[in-house]
Amino acid sequence: MLFEPYRNEPFADYSDPATLAAFKEALESVRGQLGRDYPLTIGGASVTTGEYLESYDPSRKDRLVGRASKAGPREIELAMDAAWLAYGTWSRWSMADRARLLVKLAAIMRRRRDELAAWLVFEASKNYLEAIADVAEAIDFCEYYARIALPLAEPLPTYDYPGEENTTVFQPMGVGLVIPPWNFLLAILVGTAVGPVVVGNTVIIKPSPATPIIGAKFMELVAEAGFPAGVINLLTGDDAVLGDALVDHPRTRFINFTGSVATGVRIFERAAKVQPGQSWLKRTFLEMGGKDALVVDETADLELAAQAAVTSAFGFQGQKCSALSRLIVIDEVHDEVVERVRVLTEKLSIGPADENHDVAAVINERQYQKILGYIEAGKSEARLVAGGTAAEGNGWYIAPTVFADVPVGASIACDEIFGPVLSVLRARDFDHALEIVNGSVYALTGGVISKDRERLARARADFQAGNLYLNRKITGALVGVQPFGGFKMSGSNTKAGGPDYLKNFMEMKSITERF
Ligand code: NAD
Repeated sequence: MLFEPYRNEPFADYSDPATLAAFKEALESVRGQLGRDYPLTIGGASVTTGEYLESYDPSRKDRLVGRASKAGPREIELAMDAAWLAYGTWSRWSMADRARLLVKLAAIMRRRRDELAAWLVFEASKNYLEAIADVAEAIDFCEYYARIALPLAEPLPTYDYPGEENTTVFQPMGVGLVIPPWNFLLAILVGTAVGPVVVGNTVIIKPSPATPIIGAKFMELVAEAGFPAGVINLLTGDDAVLGDALVDHPRTRFINFTGSVATGVRIFERAAKVQPGQSWLKRTFLEMGGKDALVVDETADLELAAQAAVTSAFGFQGQKCSALSRLIVIDEVHDEVVERVRVLTEKLSIGPADENHDVAAVINERQYQKILGYIEAGKSEARLVAGGTAAEGNGWYIAPTVFADVPVGASIACDEIFGPVLSVLRARDFDHALEIVNGSVYALTGGVISKDRERLARARADFQAGNLYLNRKITGALVGVQPFGGFKMSGSNTKAGGPDYLKNFMEMKSITERF
């Protein structure tokens, strides 16, 4: 075997004083590095343009995390040139040699995991556990994809035919765009880049303008691991300048996107148009939003249900695509579940991420205003149970908010809010609950808390969700354990961290020789 067996990177236990002290030291060290300037990376070279995108700490909104260079049309062309040039050689490396570089990258991230997690605390307002989980997932993507790439170097099984030799092999496709969101700013950026890369493609990463600094930090690791110049390129900058221009570019071969439905659909439509000079159909991988539901029935352990709901709804301020936003409770136990959820929600501490509060700030002012707008709408659509306001502090703080008696058609029951807002809906019975679940255009994650075996079986078959969890929280999918991605408007079901993920980024070639 080339590598030791895969296992998920463990998180950290911050109740251990030594672990906590080490993390606080990393926070101090990174705090001392805030406010610097970062370049683009094109063909292995650091490029600065003299114009910058500023990234501020959402928890202390006047604290500059760093400034990332802004790319423009010239840098797009340079990055395309560099990535296609590198593709010529990288695509001919052996799968094992490419896989080794991913394992090397994972080893570097593991050695620097506290430092990387500290950057996530400052740039995205993740508390300690959320930050270390994001780094652990990035490590997992490297380790897992390195391993599942190896068999793809082998020919596929096909039948024999008399007088001929028939072989079918996978080959890479070319230069892809990697467009991640800001919420798993390291894990998704890394996973959606190294997946296509390990099987021989080269990429241009365009991070979210909300969290550009982590992209630049990642490029330091890529250089340290020894990836050849041009295999992984980084263009930070404004969406208005880079988004459509990269998607429309005739030399873009595929687009590996994770983000909102609005952007995903825009990319889907634009990429479908064949541009002058383009000699292929672009492939798009579009992992999008959710309106994730948890059903609690009258047989459920109600404390387990309330804990699963509160953890799933308010972890990382509800800014996970997998976050719970519709708690659907069967009439008989509805009031008791709502009361338990209220009690647990009101216990959550709110404050700066670097002080490790349960709930820290949301990502930026735009999201803050959007979420508060939904909270105001919710006050006329439903009954406020907890929260319902902004929270004190020099950042974008919003009190974890729970609404009950939410009508099925209410905006807070239908739209992805992407913040700490939970809607509770009342169902007559389990059938009605499933009907509400499946009434959404989204189908990303979901769950059922029940002791009824027949209903659990029904949920396995009929609950529309790419990731279904029974009797536990609905967030926290593990790479290689729970392949992640949704149905319907939640996306193209690429299934990050799943056994078939890498095949998305390859084409199959059949070769026949007649003797
Ligand atoms: P977003 O759609 O605003 O942005 C996503 C990425 O697209 C960013 O890099 C952004 O800069 C880029 N972008 C914006 N306009 C573009 C354009 N015209 N062309 C090309 N790229 C463009 O999403 P976000 O706010 O960063 O992330 C939150 C969303 O992501 C939520 O909807 C969440 O559910 C979703 N998400 C989904 C998954 C999943 O696996 N399904 C995982 C995480 C987040």
